[in-house]
Amino acid sequence: MKRSSPVSASEPEIRSPSRLAAGLRTVFAKLLDRYGPQDWWPGENRFEILVGAILTQNTSWAAVERALDNLRAVGALAGDAESILEASPARLAGWLRPSGYFRIKAKRLRNLCAWFLAQGRFRRLSRLPTARLRAGLLGVSGVGPETADDILLYAFERPVFVVDAYTRRLFARLGWIGGGEPYEDLRSRLEGGLAPDPVLLNEYHALIVRHCKEVCRKRPVCGQCPLAGGCRFAARERIHREGIGSCR
Ligand code: SF4
Repeated sequence: MKRSSPVSASEPEIRSPSRLAAGLRTVFAKLLDRYGPQDWWPGENRFEILVGAILTQNTSWAAVERALDNLRAVGALAGDAESILEASPARLAGWLRPSGYFRIKAKRLRNLCAWFLAQGRFRRLSRLPTARLRAGLLGVSGVGPETADDILLYAFERPVFVVDAYTRRLFARLGWIGGGEPYEDLRSRLEGGLAPDPVLLNEYHALIVRHCKEVCRKRPVCGQCPLAGGCRFAARERIHREGIGSCR
């Protein structure tokens, strides 16, 4: 006899704000307990974070590191945005080659650097309220919401939740979101469930990335996951494996 399962693959659980907040705190505590503090962002200074936020689009951090090494080797990071803009677009693209999409990224990086200089660098930008700073970043061609939030959180220490592919994967598997919601919907929901604390949000994003690289991978290793007890994906897999229609 086939019984209906309480675990649905497609229907995310609509959590009340207070339940979502409690769930977010639990996930954070478990990930921190497993991995410890992550000490992000992996850049040497705030300007490198800006550069890294562009270079990390659609690629791994290992590839970004190789491109950053190229830039450091030729001194292109020594004078922040001016050094980048002094290089010809073709030379800049050559240094960025290891990060992939290097011609597009060279263009985007030049756009960001021009904006950064025109706006008065960190000294003036740091005085802007987060919403205005975010709007300014989003006005730069090639800077989307995820890149803007990377920069806001890690270079300006503003309390924003970065919604990247790992975030979508993790919370969709837990069953809290569908995964394909618009960026702003997810960002405001997740931010609303946490204290507006840049240190907490920095650590949270870094822990999600670590967890999704090591355990909640494309093919997840649920047997090693500290979140398995409350995970809809894991429950569904368990039901499937055991051939029963209930998670009890
Ligand atoms: S139990 Fe599996 S699917 Fe769920 S969060 Fe952990 S690794 Fe990901």
